[in-house]
Amino acid sequence: MGVSANSLINRPILASIHTEAFRHNLNRVRELAPESKIWSVIKARSYGHGFEAAFKGLESTDGFALLDIQDASWLRGKGWEGRILLLEGLFHQNEVTLALELSCDLVVHCETQVQWLEDYQTKGRKPFNIFLKMNSGMNRLGLNPDAYRVAFHRLHTLGYHLHHMTHFANADQIDQSPTVGEQQECFETAIAGLEAPTSLANSAAIMWHRNTLGDWVRPGIMLYGASPTGQFNDIAHSHLQAVMHLHSEIIDIQELRKGDRVGYGGCYEAPEPMRIGVIACGYADGYPRQASDGTPVWVEGGAANGSGLICPLVGRVSMDMMTIDLRKAPQARIGSRVELWGSQVPVDDVAQKSGTIGYELLCALAPRVPVDIK
Ligand SMILES: *Cc1c(COP(=O)(O)O)cnc(C)c1O
Repeated sequence: MGVSANSLINRPILASIHTEAFRHNLNRVRELAPESKIWSVIKARSYGHGFEAAFKGLESTDGFALLDIQDASWLRGKGWEGRILLLEGLFHQNEVTLALELSCDLVVHCETQVQWLEDYQTKGRKPFNIFLKMNSGMNRLGLNPDAYRVAFHRLHTLGYHLHHMTHFANADQIDQSPTVGEQQECFETAIAGLEAPTSLANSAAIMWHRNTLGDWVRPGIMLYGASPTGQFNDIAHSHLQAVMHLHSEIIDIQELRKGDRVGYGGCYEAPEPMRIGVIACGYADGYPRQASDGTPVWVEGGAANGSGLICPLVGRVSMDMMTIDLRKAPQARIGSRVELWGSQVPVDDVAQKSGTIGYELLCALAPRVPVDIK
């Protein structure tokens, strides 16, 4: 992903990916789900962190779950011999052979996919691991309970190694319908009498619905140290560490008079004489343009006593730059390092001020941002 970090690159923005934090978060999943095997979910280029770093940091996982067969191929090329799950199964019938060559486990979520595997198997070829996905109330992917039981029997007869799988719509919320309890009940009822390992829990269920863990858990966002709810408060005491740290620098400082306005649209008006820091980071780097005034930015060494502090974003984020209020940061100067998100500023706090969730910001890190795998 991205360009490699290189001292010759002079625009100061950099995303550091902390593989130690990956290891820490994976251990945290193990503590929460000691009886379960772990599918580390690395779809969307590992939630924007890149496959390389995820592979390095999460190599003690039981398996990697992702979407694209090309990415499965990449992992095998890197020497990964553990399990790989294609989370949405095959997109086309002609991928069956490659999936098998790569020893992938497949999600099967619809009748068409069942048919593909039937066709394949009637040609007398080796069966593989199937995670048969049930729609227990989310109404996105999955077979409805009755069709599920039929598909289970069909695939079972053909010798496939079956697992029961479903996905929760609201494991991150209380009392929103369908609730985890309702979905779980639907699932349990539908699989009654069909002996097979189970997989239900995403990060939110792992943290907050411990009776749903099953044989395989599927953590995504918690491995990256962000919150399933999009609210940092909800994971503040969960002992997770941010994996991606996005840094840049102050590249200019403006001295404003009272009443001066900042940036496109002149959206922010200085209430008094003040200093504004201009940071080399904008929406073309993946920083959200929707970020509102007050979005936190951490400025290293900016405080009067030389420690780091949070300064608020002011004015509209532009393509390559953004501006912050330096009134509380008399020591901030051109060249001061800033953290846009990471360990000082939770990505979820930036997301919240931008009307989204940390997931989206992490995934949207732009390819032009150099990445340093630590
Ligand atoms: C993305 C995904 C996950 C991981 O979800 P998080 O909320 O990031 O933990 C788990 N299971 C499935 C089927 C997914 O698509």
